[in-house]
Amino acid sequence: MRVTFWGVRGSIPTPGSATQGWGGNSSCVEVQHDGGPPLIFDCGTGARQLGFKLVGEPGRSLELLFSHFHMDHVFGFPFFVPIYTPGYDVRITVPAYSEDEAREKLGRYLNGVYHPTRLRELPAQVSFRPIRSDRSFVTGPFEIQALSLNHPGGALGYRVEAGDQRLAYITDTAPFARPGEGIAAGQDPVRAEARIIEFLRGCDLVIYDTMYTYDEYLEKMTWGHSYPEYAVAVCRAAGVERLLLFHHLPDASDAELDELDEAWSGHDAPKVTLAREGQTLELGPEP
Ligand SMILES: [Zn+2]
Ligand SMILES: [Zn+2]
Repeated sequence: MRVTFWGVRGSIPTPGSATQGWGGNSSCVEVQHDGGPPLIFDCGTGARQLGFKLVGEPGRSLELLFSHFHMDHVFGFPFFVPIYTPGYDVRITVPAYSEDEAREKLGRYLNGVYHPTRLRELPAQVSFRPIRSDRSFVTGPFEIQALSLNHPGGALGYRVEAGDQRLAYITDTAPFARPGEGIAAGQDPVRAEARIIEFLRGCDLVIYDTMYTYDEYLEKMTWGHSYPEYAVAVCRAAGVERLLLFHHLPDASDAELDELDEAWSGHDAPKVTLAREGQTLELGPEP
């Protein structure tokens, strides 16, 4: 699998000279494998550039998976060129109980009020797959599982297997245990932690929401985001090889993210780095 980060910022896009090093676009991650249709996680503003790239390539289908519908994960959808490209097959997976609910949730953003285009008028062929926690499906070479995360209004994390490679996309989510409890406190995992550890078991790569520092988390415990030490503790318990810190704080400047990256650069089991907009990572040998 090949993973490309098109947007790594949390909550709101942050254009400007202070963020151009790590990137100011909001969440969007592309996963490619074996020349097949790509998987795309979330459609933040990073999806705009991804869309231009995709329509310049020979393929005419893609799988788009939403973690949830907070705006930073949807901003880019109305500007994602494949949906305006006749003949493009856009298959959208959405946390929902039915196809109608899935269509209605995304349709709130494309209803003629918040954007001039309406969902039903899109020239591409757009279809919806509702999914819930603990469900899975197979598309092309990808086997995909979903798990509920700890976020206001709910969010789904996804685990993807293709060939002998495994990755997971876990955003937006707060710790599953209170401060002083669970694995980040050096204790046994609480029940919800045991679930996510099992979900991430043996992943080669995990992309994890670490928007806050520990101190920021203590001030905003109900806001639904994690901190690096917590993601590291979960990934270590799950035997994850590599952790990518993701969904960076809008206020974090390049200098601050450089510092964070430097602070974690020597960590092993898991290896830890910050996700950077424009970065591509290869998992294992390409077939
Ligand atoms: Zn978010
Ligand atoms: Zn959110």
